[in-house]
Amino acid sequence: MPAPAARAAGQVSHEGSAVTQSPLSTAEADAIVAKDEQYIMRPWTHPKGEPVIVARAKGCVVTDVHGKDYLDFTAGYFVNNAGHCHPRIVEAATQQLTQVLQVSGKHGTIPAILLAERLVKLLPASINQAFFSTGGSEANEFALKMARQASGKADVAYLENAYHGLSLGALEVTASEKYRESAGKPLGDHTYTIPNAYCYRCKFGPASGCKVECLDGVDAQFAARPAGAVLAEPIQSVGGLAPPRKWWDRLDALRKKHGMLLIIDEVQTGLGRTGKMFGLDHYGLEPEIVSGGKGLSGGVGSLAMTCAGTEVIKKFFGGTTPTSGGNAVSAAAGLALIGTLLDEGMIDNAAAMGRHFTEAAWALRDPWIGDVRFTGLLGGIELVADTGTKAVLPKKALAAVKDALHDAGMLITMSGTHGNVLRLQPPLVVTAAQIDTFLATLKQVLATVRAAG
Ligand code: PMP
Repeated sequence: MPAPAARAAGQVSHEGSAVTQSPLSTAEADAIVAKDEQYIMRPWTHPKGEPVIVARAKGCVVTDVHGKDYLDFTAGYFVNNAGHCHPRIVEAATQQLTQVLQVSGKHGTIPAILLAERLVKLLPASINQAFFSTGGSEANEFALKMARQASGKADVAYLENAYHGLSLGALEVTASEKYRESAGKPLGDHTYTIPNAYCYRCKFGPASGCKVECLDGVDAQFAARPAGAVLAEPIQSVGGLAPPRKWWDRLDALRKKHGMLLIIDEVQTGLGRTGKMFGLDHYGLEPEIVSGGKGLSGGVGSLAMTCAGTEVIKKFFGGTTPTSGGNAVSAAAGLALIGTLLDEGMIDNAAAMGRHFTEAAWALRDPWIGDVRFTGLLGGIELVADTGTKAVLPKKALAAVKDALHDAGMLITMSGTHGNVLRLQPPLVVTAAQIDTFLATLKQVLATVRAAG
């Protein structure tokens, strides 16, 4: 391999982000980027500068093949909660590599069994066993199957603007019309939405007087269409919508009144992200089924879970694919992840850094910052053109903000019902200094984009 291109480590690029020594020469890096374009299928529109082809990652920093560093406020798409390549996770996975890799869910391995035990003990008492699969969509498909088999009812209610995955079954409980159309055929008509808690844009007036009026019609909806279950994230990741406790109390009472199971999707809210081990811990919920995925294997392979209580499990007669579920290396890494989150105080750090993010973002006093919503490190900043009317910042300005942040070495995604929320979900090891660096950049970017008109 030719010598790497001469470039001083730590040199600052024209966009302001650091450039560290890349293991590849510029020509080699360019060739990899060209091969990505030629061979990798990416059926979506990229924001400017994406995809980033990552050569290395550590903690909250990822480095691309050209040596440009980014602060990763996406945690590798909300997966690497303990930070990229945490040594304890790498060590656990490496140890397991020489023991046994995969035997299918029909049999068992020590790490998968121990991980199931750990999860069941961390989840509410309503949960007794775990079933492992490979991704969040799949975990939710099994949750739907379990709920339908246990309840004998086909219908499932889910929240407005919910996202539970893009496979055909999961799409039935994902609200976005754009995504639903991707199925290329009508979806089944056995699911329906109930209102979510978008308190910033509440139709019923100021939050101080909230009587959870948004759920007023749900009793009648459940009566008109008896459903087997209601499926929801405890805190909606799209837009970072954390309902008040009384919202969940009311919905939980309603679903119990109508004999419906509760399925809680912890794919994104789980494993410390919200400042508690699971998002449901904020509300004292006792669901019959809990799904999870994303960071469950600490970023080593892909692992997902569908956990349930005994009554549901007794009626679950199957229709599952055991081929890949519970990979031993992923499970060993998952065990190390949970140990690391607890032993290194990362969940408390998520709670503290969420508070810091909130205070420091409001302190910017930027006229485009309409709302700042963090529960731990889940959520973000909602951008508006006018804080009085709450008019959504126009698409062109949103794209300019996203692009300028990217150029400056800040990896983020946009989220929310109107696509105007800067979703800021770094690894849980993020420091106040890294958050301050991000916010100083954001302040400058917002002013520049505004000035450009
Ligand atoms: N549920 C939620 C809440 C999610 O955020 C996601 C992924 N963004 C999924 C389900 C689907 O997970 P996957 O992409 O692993 O299928």
